[in-house]
Amino acid sequence: MSVNKEKYLELLKELGDRAVLVAVSKTKPATDIQELYDLGQRDFGENYVQELVDKAAELPKDIRWHFIGHLQSNKVKYLAPFVHLVHGVDSASLLKEINKQGAKTNRVIDCLLQVHIAQEETKFGFDQQELEQLHVTGLNNIAIRGMMGMASFSNHTEVVRQEFNILKQLFDKYNGKFGERHAFTILSMGMSGDYPVALAEGSTMIRVGSLLFGERNMKH
Ligand SMILES: *Cc1c(COP(=O)(O)O)cnc(C)c1O
Repeated sequence: MSVNKEKYLELLKELGDRAVLVAVSKTKPATDIQELYDLGQRDFGENYVQELVDKAAELPKDIRWHFIGHLQSNKVKYLAPFVHLVHGVDSASLLKEINKQGAKTNRVIDCLLQVHIAQEETKFGFDQQELEQLHVTGLNNIAIRGMMGMASFSNHTEVVRQEFNILKQLFDKYNGKFGERHAFTILSMGMSGDYPVALAEGSTMIRVGSLLFGERNMKH
């Protein structure tokens, strides 16, 4: 028994229509996803391309698959035909590749810009200077729908709150700046450990894994 259905229903109630819940199912079996699907959940997030592709083939076709991991350019083509939202876009060259694969499959692919807000060096994402230099003119097969960020792994709520607050400010600053087609509606921030803080700071989409599916093994 690993899926916590009670927690799921509780979380949905807590969110109401304030924010969308993306259930992060990385490393978890398709049967776990099916359990939440049967309760009505449709948005699922995965970090690894092959794992996402395999699960999508096996599971119901109306699942909205979110790619939340670090995406390598050479793997975009596997997701392009069906991915619902790419959360972790962290470079202009990746954006170009998503656009190219979107054109090939005749889709406009929704993307979020991942912004580096944590103190840890290891987290991916644009910094503020890179955001300033980003131009997306001519990329007609992508739509930038907002931003995504991960706060520091910290027990200090104040640190986490400040980081989410910075992301919210950047979200407001860049909303509309990339052109009319790129109206921001999604601010993806908050995970199992920090989603209440993220919601308080303006998150519209939270990505929750372990709280719903139980702890993952060490590899991830
Ligand atoms: C794994 C992961 C999550 C979910 O983390 P939990 O702490 O299990 O809720 C959210 N976002 C990203 C980008 C992740 O890699």
